[in-house]
Amino acid sequence: MDELRRLYARMGIEKEIYEYGEAVLKRLVPRFQEIDETAEYNQLKVVGAMQECQVSEACLLGTTGYGYNDLGRDRLEEVYAHVFRTEDALVRPQITCGTHALALALMSNLRPGDELLSPVGKPYDTLEEVIGIRPSRGSLAEYGISYRQVELLPDGGFDYEGIRNAINEKTRLVTIQRSKGYQTRPTLSVERIGELISFVKSVKPDVICMVDNCYGEFVEIQEPGEVGADMVVGSLIKNPGGGLAPIGGYIAGKKECVENAAYRLTSPGLGKEVGASLGVLKDFYQGLFLAPSVTAAALKGALFAANLYEPLGYAVVPDARESRHDIIQAITFGSPEGVIAFCQGIQAAAPVDSHVTPEPWDMPGYDAPVIMAAGAFVAGSSIELSADGPIKPPYAVYFQGGLTWQHAKLGILSSLQSVVGRGLADREALRRISGL
Ligand SMILES: *Cc1c(COP(=O)(O)O)cnc(C)c1O
Repeated sequence: MDELRRLYARMGIEKEIYEYGEAVLKRLVPRFQEIDETAEYNQLKVVGAMQECQVSEACLLGTTGYGYNDLGRDRLEEVYAHVFRTEDALVRPQITCGTHALALALMSNLRPGDELLSPVGKPYDTLEEVIGIRPSRGSLAEYGISYRQVELLPDGGFDYEGIRNAINEKTRLVTIQRSKGYQTRPTLSVERIGELISFVKSVKPDVICMVDNCYGEFVEIQEPGEVGADMVVGSLIKNPGGGLAPIGGYIAGKKECVENAAYRLTSPGLGKEVGASLGVLKDFYQGLFLAPSVTAAALKGALFAANLYEPLGYAVVPDARESRHDIIQAITFGSPEGVIAFCQGIQAAAPVDSHVTPEPWDMPGYDAPVIMAAGAFVAGSSIELSADGPIKPPYAVYFQGGLTWQHAKLGILSSLQSVVGRGLADREALRRISGL
């Protein structure tokens, strides 16, 4: 469509970049179809849950103050329990982020003297302080909860022998991170998580298995609660908030685990009974309703990015062909300039703050300057188109999100335009591949 091409050109995407993108997209038709089928399944799952729980107009209103008898909040938690196939759920705006949800799940279900085990290597950065791997005020370590970790095998497999040896009489909770986060290990499929949980329970049946589900929701048709997870935990400003939730986290799981979390979030004796939903319920419901298709849009973006950059000689994880279990795409540029150009290109395509130019800066908690691109409606939301990269070898960027596929596509083309515009990519290769 010439009109479309002209509009891309007016928005700064040269013909050469656009044509290359179209050539890449032609090959992705069957993969996009698979993603759409998953979204269709999950859309039915979500709508079905809302219908079974009889979500009504009154559920969309909120409460203030103590929040007693908050019909919409309680019903939403039932809907989450249905969607994640668990006994119960805690879904609250008072859970401020993913780290908070995970910390809450851990702190409420562990007691002094217990031990926590990660059988999948190092957990997400922010959990290091929650656990006390890096000494930190208020950590689990300060409360006398010890921690062990078993690395994945070099091929990404589980070290079953190591895990068996690490489980002891103190082991109370096992934490399994589904997404690779900002590491280069593969993301775990729900099926593999199920195998790991079965193994752990065969060694010690009463261990609580928790899955950090961040970035994994609705990427597959199954969720970890269906393969034996006792708690499934995540952030509402990632996949399940569908881009609309302005804050929040969830813990879905066994009734006892969820109640423990509720008594810790509010207070012993109060639990789930308090916690006003204020005005967020409509966005929580509508965001969950949109989440399957928003996740599909983000997945298409990640797949497109991998297939756009890999032929140009950049290492991409996951690679262009492998199956996907989360929405994160890593692209290695090998130079600070590449990382910066990519992030600036993503920012330039944002609906909000497209006119600002991100620069690397020394963020607290990181050991190298980091550049972040985010022009989001919800601050820091990473289900919206966003990217960040630490300015240190191997000079990789981590890219995720996109509320619509069309916007993800624009953002990725804009990133390539920025990289090519600075002479950092091979224009000849690009022409050759698109047959120009
Ligand atoms: C994002 C994320 C977290 C932490 O969530 P925040 O909302 O950033 O606190 C934890 N684990 C994984 C795998 C994540 O992707």
